[in-house]
Amino acid sequence: MFDKILIANRGEIALRVIRACREMGIKSVAVHSTADSDAMHVRMADEAICIGPPPSTDSYLSIPAIIAACEITGAEAIHPGYGFLSENANFVQIVEDHGITFIGPTAEHIRMMGDKITAKDTMKALGVPCVPGSDGGVPDMDTARRVAGEIGYPVIIKATAGGGGRGMKLAKAADELETAFRTARAEAKAAFGNDEVYIEKYLGRPRHIEIQVFGDGNGGAVHLGERDCSLQRRHQKVFEEAPGPAIDAETRARIGKTCAEAIARIGYRGAGTIEFLFEDGEFYFIEMNTRLQVEHPVTEAIFGVDLVREQIRVASGLPMSFGQEDLSLNGHAIEVRINAEKLPNFAPCPGLVNVFHAPGGLGVRMDSALYGGYRIPPYYDSLIGKLIVHGRDRPEALARLRRALGELIVDGVDTTVPLFHALLDEPDILAGDYNIHWLEKWLAENI
Ligand code: ADP
Repeated sequence: MFDKILIANRGEIALRVIRACREMGIKSVAVHSTADSDAMHVRMADEAICIGPPPSTDSYLSIPAIIAACEITGAEAIHPGYGFLSENANFVQIVEDHGITFIGPTAEHIRMMGDKITAKDTMKALGVPCVPGSDGGVPDMDTARRVAGEIGYPVIIKATAGGGGRGMKLAKAADELETAFRTARAEAKAAFGNDEVYIEKYLGRPRHIEIQVFGDGNGGAVHLGERDCSLQRRHQKVFEEAPGPAIDAETRARIGKTCAEAIARIGYRGAGTIEFLFEDGEFYFIEMNTRLQVEHPVTEAIFGVDLVREQIRVASGLPMSFGQEDLSLNGHAIEVRINAEKLPNFAPCPGLVNVFHAPGGLGVRMDSALYGGYRIPPYYDSLIGKLIVHGRDRPEALARLRRALGELIVDGVDTTVPLFHALLDEPDILAGDYNIHWLEKWLAENI
């Protein structure tokens, strides 16, 4: 097992990894920008090292600074968290070239899934159901017209290098195709430096269902069921739950097995998420994330496992501590993402937190790097905490969420807490009856 791990991240996810390290008897190294000298992850780690000025391109994304921090502190492995360098194949290659272990999949697997066309081709070949669409990239308007005609309107044009919902354009009918195609390409070029796009059938009212998978890197793999992350604003998830209200045990076992077998066959190592759109009982693969997800705690809650601990074990060469037969689903969990944002426009709201009080009690977990007197810097994303509740069933989890939100105090900055209070009054939310468009529609009408 490793003696010391460096965490190339900040905020709540850095704390999450430090906690796992401490329970495993592993020393932790925090890295931070000058804007984060007072951050909780710096205080909680065994060692901390400054890696640059506030902009993340000069600090949390600076590969030389992070490698140097490893060499100075003698850290043997790097946990990337999510975001930043977590899905950067080039970074993984450099880390390994320096004799440091990357806690995550291989550079090859990250590259494979980072290119959405390759990811889709790979998944299709592995027997994973995909959205009908173009076979590969669509180079010109003539091809676009032919492909869209074949699959039928509406269609969505998506960037091969896409992420964060950018470079995606809807064409409801043939007369909208040319504009959608050109705008998607231009956006993709601007955002990713790659204007390749592909076309998919547009699904009208799907849910976003993702399957948590975990591989040992040697052809062994399991699945840990699904999360329903349909409640999104601008393609950003805000409320996630497990199990999914629309997924029954038989469906879970079937899609879970398909996903676990797929990643076993490619020899995948560590945690991964296979994302699907789910409509009329059918799954359609959209992408695979080759990292720990923000919403992983809902899966941890219902399966009673520590996914970060497992990532560290597998990266160190140990076998997984559980097999599929050891995993059984227990109760229901919900996570809400608390952002420092001001409603109704969700404008970022950094600044001084005078008082912070985290909720507690049975079945409540608050992952947050806040403390009273902390000043949220304006340079990074606005997630300031995740509130996760676990109950014996969905109604109990909902009641617990309402109760825990009522206990939470974040004084000094605006947060998205009022949004969740309001959502808990909505019959559709209480019934679990929503799809990927529900929240945007509700926000337009109510906020
Ligand atoms: P990104 O990597 O940019 O997040 P995804 O492929 O994961 O892109 O898609 C993001 C979101 O866009 C999905 O969660 C869904 O809301 C919507 N979306 C993507 N593909 C389709 C599709 N074929 N039909 C309908 N909606 C889609």
